Amino acid sequence: MGLLDRADAVLFDLDDTLLDYSAARDAGIITWMQEVDAARHATDAVRRWRELEEHHFRRYSQGELTFEEQRRARIRAFRPDLREAADAVLDRAFSDYIVHTQAAWAPVPGAVETVRTLAARLPVGVLTNGPVELQARKLRTLGLGDLALFASSELPAPKPDVRAYEAACTELGVAPARTVMVGDDLTNDVEGALYAGLRSVWFCRVALGEPDGWPVTPSSAVSVVTDLRELLS
Ligand SMILES: [Mg+2]
Repeated sequence: MGLLDRADAVLFDLDDTLLDYSAARDAGIITWMQEVDAARHATDAVRRWRELEEHHFRRYSQGELTFEEQRRARIRAFRPDLREAADAVLDRAFSDYIVHTQAAWAPVPGAVETVRTLAARLPVGVLTNGPVELQARKLRTLGLGDLALFASSELPAPKPDVRAYEAACTELGVAPARTVMVGDDLTNDVEGALYAGLRSVWFCRVALGEPDGWPVTPSSAVSVVTDLRELLS
């Protein structure tokens, strides 16, 4: 039986599901460090930046910080020389970094062909936490700018709030129970989707045995793929 049997629509997450965000971020931070602090150990810098991103982006998703504030908080914690810097200086530093990540934007292997094949058969949308301009630019870079985009800056609430999934399903004109959410994040793409009544496919690029911290009772509503092309079989 196919993973999308009896599905009327598919929603994809964007970052680290369609766009290889982590690879671009790591490449960006390494290139940026070579410019601003060549003495800093690249592996340590990458690890620290990942931690800061996870922490502060979560705070943004929970409404604790604005999108700009979470960026500034990351720069302040990452660059001791900019700890006391004015917002404008922090914003400029972040822009310098982001130029390098954007130069490295590329699709996750199999993402584009999977989306294109599915979109010829049924409604396909992208449900993502982030500002609509940035997320739309990512989709255009992937050659997927024509897909329906539901970015949290334009939704009643970000994932994992049930209103995010409900708004996307309403816009697509499909029932949540007949919609499958595909994404890499257990909280935003699996747990939240299930609460909203959707089915979910967890995209886990590293093949795991029994995943740690499985947040929901595995059921027929959740499947796991390690390659998006499995959705086509
Ligand atoms: Mg993601």
